Amino acid sequence: MARSRQRNRVMRTRLAAAFVGAVVLLGCTGQSTPSSAPASAVKPSPTVANGSVLARVRKRGRIVVGVKFDVPLFGSKNEAGTLEGFDIEIAKIIASEIFDTPDAAESARRIDFVEALSKDRESYLQNGTVDIVVSTYTMTESRKQFVDFAGPYYIAGQDILARTADVTSGRIAGVGSLNGKKVCAVTGSTSLANLTEAAPQADTSFSAERYPQCFAALQSGKVDAMTTDDVILLGLIQSSGGEFSLTGNPFHTEPYGVGIPKGETDLRERVNSALEKAFTDGRWSTAFRSTVGVVGASVPAPPVISSDPT
Ligand code: GLU
Repeated sequence: MARSRQRNRVMRTRLAAAFVGAVVLLGCTGQSTPSSAPASAVKPSPTVANGSVLARVRKRGRIVVGVKFDVPLFGSKNEAGTLEGFDIEIAKIIASEIFDTPDAAESARRIDFVEALSKDRESYLQNGTVDIVVSTYTMTESRKQFVDFAGPYYIAGQDILARTADVTSGRIAGVGSLNGKKVCAVTGSTSLANLTEAAPQADTSFSAERYPQCFAALQSGKVDAMTTDDVILLGLIQSSGGEFSLTGNPFHTEPYGVGIPKGETDLRERVNSALEKAFTDGRWSTAFRSTVGVVGASVPAPPVISSDPT
């Protein structure tokens, strides 16, 4: 257990070392997620195209945001049933920009959160189930065939989680060690696609739709390992007492973007503007510190917003 703690400390140190930047520590806002709220008048914006998703959202006075409901640190329900996490805070920052509501609580009241599993994100954006997706969503070329992205707002790395004994013995080490092993990854995720490419002999037949399902399969011994973004793995093992460890060797870079319906340029630009403002005025750092920061990751420098829309 001590070695595992040490390894996880090393992991945190690695995350910390990769990140630069000072932060002001403020408490997590922990806003509620009401399904309906008064939509007071929103000032018209000259830059909003008639009929665009942004125009509809502003007229409605509410935005529907696809997030995870069961991914600790990014989007998960606390004991009171309130959604919390870095993606939830990013959604509030975006709502504040779209509705010109500097007050964080007012911004939060204008969001309807919808659960968006990894496999559902593109279709939810395409069929209008959600207006945007903020859901540990990696910007990739293949996804850009179906959706646009604002951001990135965070850069993760894909790592491997296994029993600490297997990590310390080297049985589970780099991604190549997963060939011939049973590995859980989530359907529709880059994690599964990257695994299949890097370790084609890995047995992925235990893959699941949700991250806690993969972790449960690892805990019960059905699989030898699970793989996804390092910060998701750190969130899952928060209270597992050192029984599980990350290998600490990320093998793929995962830039998190905000999913935007294809061609909705004014919405994408407004989201990028919200992110840029939050990068510079401290709200982004505060959001990171109060969410992902609780597992020891120091606040990184904000990433550079991509100028490539598609
Ligand atoms: N960031 C990866 C992805 O977008 C893995 C996390 C997830 O499934 O949301 O696929």
